[in-house]
Order: sequence, then structure tokens, then C-alpha cells
Amino acid sequence: MKRSRPIPAPSAAEIARRERNCYCDLWQTSPDFLRKQGVPAGFCGRCERCGAPGHTRHYPGPVPVTGSWCDECFRRLKWTALLRRIMGWLIIAAVFAALMAAVRFSLRG
Ligand SMILES: [Zn+2]
Ligand SMILES: [Zn+2]
Repeated sequence: MKRSRPIPAPSAAEIARRERNCYCDLWQTSPDFLRKQGVPAGFCGRCERCGAPGHTRHYPGPVPVTGSWCDECFRRLKWTALLRRIMGWLIIAAVFAALMAAVRFSLRG
């Protein structure tokens, strides 16, 4: 069996960056911008919630918002977004169930 060309393995930091999908690329393209904002190396933003060094990335919910959060606050944000989505579906289901009950009630007349 022929093996395909070996791809250079990305470093752990590179994998983490890709998973975060953040703006750490700026350290390659415009490091001055980050330095001016007082962002330490290895990060690309400051947390909006607690001011700790963090990463600029997309909000984990369904809204197209980009912000900066540290890993800790981002994890919490992700949970909040997930819970909010579940709550949204529960409300839709409850409204739907109420509507069905109302329709059934009115049909019975
Ligand atoms: Zn980053
Ligand atoms: Zn934070």
C-alpha cells in the first residue's frame, strides 16, 4: 500500500488555535495591532467579562457576534448559549402544545 506524502504535524498550540477559530493569526500579520492593545503573546484579545488575556472569536450562539473572551468565560458562554437554545425549543414546544390543545378544545366545541 502506498502511503501519501507526510503532512507536517501541526503543533499543539496550532491545533488549539484552529479549534478556537480565533484571531491569533494577527501575530503573524499585524503584531503591532495586538501589542498596542496590550494583548500578551499567545492571546489575541482581552476578555470582555473579566479582563483576562483571551481570544477574539465568534460568539458560540446563533447570533453573528464576535468578541473577546478568556477560555473560562468562553466555556460558560457556550453553556449559556446551549441552555438558551434548549429553552427556546421548550418554549416553542409548549406554545405548540397549547395551540394543539386549544384547537382540540374548540373542535370539540
Ligand atoms: Zn487567539
Ligand atoms: Zn474571562
